[in-house]
Amino acid sequence: AEDILVRSEKLSILGQLAASLAHEIRNPLTSLKGFTQLLKSKAKEDVFYYDTMLTELERINLIVGDFMTLAKPQLAQFEYGSINRMLEHVVSVLNHQAVMMNVSIVSKVNKKLPDVYCDENQLKQVFINLIKNAIEAMPSGGNVVITAEQNGEHVSIKIKDQGEGISDSIVEKLGEPFLTTKSNGTGLGLMISYRIMEQHGGSLTIRSELHKGTTIELRLPIDGKRVKRPPVSQLL
Ligand code: ADP
Ligand code: MG
Repeated sequence: AEDILVRSEKLSILGQLAASLAHEIRNPLTSLKGFTQLLKSKAKEDVFYYDTMLTELERINLIVGDFMTLAKPQLAQFEYGSINRMLEHVVSVLNHQAVMMNVSIVSKVNKKLPDVYCDENQLKQVFINLIKNAIEAMPSGGNVVITAEQNGEHVSIKIKDQGEGISDSIVEKLGEPFLTTKSNGTGLGLMISYRIMEQHGGSLTIRSELHKGTTIELRLPIDGKRVKRPPVSQLL
């Protein structure tokens, strides 16, 4: 069966506190990592313990890093920009990771696509989160196919993988913070993506079939200038 999910409103959970907390955690974390590395390099025994400490510190680092992208809308810069160019850039950044995992990213980008009113850095963050998930869903390789087309007053971008799919019990919770099925996941990527799409007056829809693959559709208003965005104080 096909599971369909549209969710662009669920996500007003994280407070301003979370964003500033993330900044506050980064600094002590960096020094903890540095000193742990130093101790490990001097240790003759128990290197395993230091490795475990470094792995766990890195995990905190990843979570805090994802959290900090939530703080970025504060510096949001909306203007008309080319989706093709953003996708091209993101794909070139992720291609290395894809090749390592036997994944090809096929970008069937439509050259006639109109520019979209958006915050380029935020949209790129969404593309990165979704394409990474697609790559990670195919541990033994496959294709990620990206298409973009105009649909009336919207642009629709689809990211399709041939991966493991998402089970019903997970689908209904997607978008909740820290929901992850991965050993090194943060469970923040989708939540952040939903939030950014909400900021753009757009939507994110997930269609997934177990053992066949997942397609994520992003819909963005072309003329998002007219979209009423929540005030910054509500964003964080
Ligand atoms: P993370 O990738 O850190 O686990 P995300 O918020 O990006 O966090 O994704 C949450 C969960 O949603 C993943 O752990 C995975 O179970 C599921 N998921 C997301 N995208 C896909 C996909 N393309 N294919 C299969 N599962 C997915
Ligand atoms: Mg992810």
